[in-house]
Amino acid sequence: MSKKAVIFLGPPGAGKGTISAVCQKEFNWKHLSTGNVCREHIVNKTDLGQEIAALISQGKLVPDQIIMNMIEMWIVTHQYNIDGIIFDGTPRTLEQSAFIDKMLNVQFSNFKTLVVKFEVDENVLMNRIESRVVCGNKDCQRVYSTQQDNSLQPKQFMKCDVCDHDLIHRPDDSRETLKKRLDVYYQHEKDMLQYYKDKGTTILVINAQEPVEQVFEYIKQISNC
Ligand code: AMP
Repeated sequence: MSKKAVIFLGPPGAGKGTISAVCQKEFNWKHLSTGNVCREHIVNKTDLGQEIAALISQGKLVPDQIIMNMIEMWIVTHQYNIDGIIFDGTPRTLEQSAFIDKMLNVQFSNFKTLVVKFEVDENVLMNRIESRVVCGNKDCQRVYSTQQDNSLQPKQFMKCDVCDHDLIHRPDDSRETLKKRLDVYYQHEKDMLQYYKDKGTTILVINAQEPVEQVFEYIKQISNC
């Protein structure tokens, strides 16, 4: 099996984080979520955290240069002994797409880049986001759902199954902010997809409304590419 750089493109609430956790476990791929890195900065009250907190709570993008520094830092510290990388929620702009390619060519030139496009109806996204809770431990940030009969419900009420930390609602997971985040996402999605099409990158389009197990089955198809 060749080494992979898998780019998860999809709107907030599409399940990218949840599927990333499954892939990490099943394939031993490493996971870069720039959203998680941003939240770590906010929890740690770093200068950067204070700079980006307001942007995130308003559903705006963090500037490209800040995100590209995060990507570079992550790649430099994770460059050895890895079979795959999942880029979860990054890139979010054309500029970030080109930057990731450049970094991959330098540090992981033997990796094959693949794109997975997560598709979900907007009303489903709304419901998912409103019932989404995440582990408040910055080193975990696992995603759960408070929806009844959802396979992502935590075993214990508002406690993380993995680290027992309290679960929290993300402040940017409100209906109003989600509208803004979706607009911003779709503004950039077309350009990023065109970029990957022009390069001849394989793009797997998946119906991410299906249960997690089924979505993972789709992802397995590309793990064998
Ligand atoms: P996420 O957890 O991926 O939904 O990201 C949460 C928020 O962090 C986003 O709504 C953005 O404000 C910011 N963010 C995360 N990743 C990026 C990125 N690649 N580019 C710009 N902003 C980002």
